[in-house]
Amino acid sequence: MTTIKAAVCHEFGQPLVVEDVTLRAPEMGEIEVTLDAVAICHSDISFAEGGWGGSLPAVYGHEAAGRISGVGGGVNGLAEGDAVVVTLIRACGACPTCSEGKPVICSTPYDGDKGPLSTADGGKLHQAMACGAFAEKVVVDQSQVVKISDDIPKEAASLIACGVITGVGAVVNAAQIRAGQDVVVIGAGGVGLNAIQGARIAGARRIVAVDMSEEKLAIAKEFGATDGVLATEKKPFVKAMRAMGRGADAVIVTVGAIPAYDEAPRYLAPGGKVIMVGMPHSGAKSTYEPVVLAAIGQGMQGSKMGDVVIKRDIPWMVDLYKQGRLKLDELISGRWTLDQINEAIADTKTGSAKRNVILFDRN
Ligand SMILES: [Zn+2]
Ligand SMILES: [Zn+2]
Repeated sequence: MTTIKAAVCHEFGQPLVVEDVTLRAPEMGEIEVTLDAVAICHSDISFAEGGWGGSLPAVYGHEAAGRISGVGGGVNGLAEGDAVVVTLIRACGACPTCSEGKPVICSTPYDGDKGPLSTADGGKLHQAMACGAFAEKVVVDQSQVVKISDDIPKEAASLIACGVITGVGAVVNAAQIRAGQDVVVIGAGGVGLNAIQGARIAGARRIVAVDMSEEKLAIAKEFGATDGVLATEKKPFVKAMRAMGRGADAVIVTVGAIPAYDEAPRYLAPGGKVIMVGMPHSGAKSTYEPVVLAAIGQGMQGSKMGDVVIKRDIPWMVDLYKQGRLKLDELISGRWTLDQINEAIADTKTGSAKRNVILFDRN
């Protein structure tokens, strides 16, 4: 048992409260990681606003990096002192979906209410997304942790845990884009910029960014977009189509806005597919014409966390970063302390920020 500081959500829609909480020691198959950095993701904000329900009080935060400070029994290949990325991808390794090579949709449920956290007075404290990383330390399952090389800054490494694998993986793993294909990315935010650089890495011919903001379209070009289209134009898909010719082999929807989902199939080439990444609030519905998709062999496919296999994909992403081929530092727009987390969240909500990162001061 150890006492740590964590940002706790007591009531949906209210500011998080930074307070002392209790973290139990790692048990069988678990790892304790002392965090250096945790980034703020829109999923954390959706949860904290109550958009997806869930148990309270809770600790959110799931894009983290740090160093292993405790190892439970039965852990393989990880040791105290290792630099690691911590993800929310908890996989049992034994269910049918894990066995099929799809750990991100592992079908063994995890109950965060029975996780390693409790309030200072011993009450229930929910470990959200199997992580609870808005805290100085986490205890997570070994399946959620990937060892990385020591020479990558932790603030950059933390971004890989969610936004980067989600965006790059949507293109490389879900859409399986190959050199010469055309890609449209709707939304040039944290995940969208990574989908754009994923398409660049994959060798796409045209990479069309679609966003409401001119400023974000300019940033999208720095990440590899060849064309930018304002979503506020009357028929943005017509302009995108002009740039591509026959349409997109994949349209990656990285925002949760329903109008973006409604229009996404209109960017497609025959045989192309929409990759659905952005997550609207529960209950929101989109409409499309099945006859169009059926007649020209198009598809729609959900992609969670870039269909990533973390122990395969995160090491190559770290390597591409070190070679200068995957941009991470450029994704960071602000650095904050844990005590400033509500300001950091407010800044993320303005929509202008890329990624805000909480850095833990060790002094
Ligand atoms: Zn996330
Ligand atoms: Zn599983």
